[in-house]
Amino acid sequence: MAIPIPSRQLFINGDWAEPLLKKRIPIINPTTEEIIGDIPAATAEDVDVAVQAARSALTRNKGKDWAFASGAVRAKYLRAIAAKIKERKPVLAKLETVDCGKPLSESEADMDDVVGCFEYYADLAEGLDAKQKAPISLPMKTFKSYVIKEPIGVVALIVPWNYPLLMATWKVAPALAAGCAAILKPSELASATCLELGEVCREVDLPAGVLNILPGLGPEAGASLASHPHVDKISFTGSTVTAVKIMTAAAQRVKPVTLELGGKGPIVVFEDVDIDKAVEWTIFGCFYTNGQICSATSRLIVHESIAAEFLDRLVKWSENIKISDPLEEGCKLGPIVSRGQYEKVMNFISNAKSEGATILYGGNRPKHLKKGFFVEPTIITDVTTSMQIWREEVFGPVLCVKTFTTEEEAIELANDTHYGLGGAVVSKDRERCDRVSKVRSILEASSKHAT
Ligand code: NAD
Repeated sequence: MAIPIPSRQLFINGDWAEPLLKKRIPIINPTTEEIIGDIPAATAEDVDVAVQAARSALTRNKGKDWAFASGAVRAKYLRAIAAKIKERKPVLAKLETVDCGKPLSESEADMDDVVGCFEYYADLAEGLDAKQKAPISLPMKTFKSYVIKEPIGVVALIVPWNYPLLMATWKVAPALAAGCAAILKPSELASATCLELGEVCREVDLPAGVLNILPGLGPEAGASLASHPHVDKISFTGSTVTAVKIMTAAAQRVKPVTLELGGKGPIVVFEDVDIDKAVEWTIFGCFYTNGQICSATSRLIVHESIAAEFLDRLVKWSENIKISDPLEEGCKLGPIVSRGQYEKVMNFISNAKSEGATILYGGNRPKHLKKGFFVEPTIITDVTTSMQIWREEVFGPVLCVKTFTTEEEAIELANDTHYGLGGAVVSKDRERCDRVSKVRSILEASSKHAT
């Protein structure tokens, strides 16, 4: 059954507004490769209008507006947004799945998290009302010290496409709770659910301009926001390449930025594990959300003594992963978000082959699906640490494998990356898990390289 895609405009100053240059971007369903609607594309002109709306939302009638509202008032709006999203969960989850290709069960879980996140920050907003004494003793009684948390002003929130509404919420909810006015810039590859947040804001009568939603192309809408003189802070999640551009633009105006970027996470599996359980974690770590997760554990580092058995079972599990239309019951792997990303993932696989690695499982588009940007879960062995597949983030369902013999070697391999973010250690020995996962083990490994 076709999912109706709402036709929306930009969300500026509490209402829908046609982009000034009337540009739109098609929405392509990654499962069918069909155009199923379009989204408005903001340009620098729209960014100016939205920034102005956000600024005046902060201080329109001094003393009464968002920046001055009590935490309790802001919390009321955040809870109202959470309640509306809860009501719309089935529709929003389907829309997310059709737009970005993740299995419906995952989109449903995302919507639950969205609700929880708005509620969580509502609680924190209430906590902001209490004036805290600063924990310092001052030499003279005439001085007093307090900690008062103030909003930073207008914030630009730029997000990627892998968790469209959830990632947006992780930024929108705390910004609004803190009394900031925000401009959300969703990814051009998946903006549909973020635009629905605009409709929710209208329904709960969120004061005009407190949240503005501007989908559009990165180099246009995103870049204009990053360099805008009246944006006080940028919070960005996305690729390292884009982060460098955003930091450069922000540096011109000495503007603070918060960045959450890519990863090439390790999963270290020791010899004492329950192999089936460890295989299950490995599959989850690398193939959940079609492998399009910044903290995906896409480098398996497995003890040599169990490697053959482990890989054997990993392949069997992979054979049983249901790859299908992500709306289908039981789907575990949907399509990659777009043709561009699909081609990137396939290039990584073919580069790995030409550099001498072995495709132990997968590596192709699944034969039973004639359309869609699907990639089989892929396991790559005979990998060296200089290969691209070991070094660079794929952002797709591709796992590369190396073995180790000593704990020290495992730590070195795990930390052999220029990315930060997540990692996993699997062992029955809790002390070992704690030891290996500590930052200190990373420092030890890197000091060895330095000497
Ligand atoms: P991307 O960097 O291409 O795009 C992210 C956002 O930035 C999009 O909204 C895009 O339109 C915008 N953008 C692009 N060019 C811009 C510019 N010049 N100025 C301002 N904005 C611009 O990333 P993506 O492909 O959407 O997402 C995948 C990347 O995101 C991966 O590297 C992944 O690891 C990372 N990611 C990180 C986290 C995390 O929490 N660390 C979470 C999810 C994704």
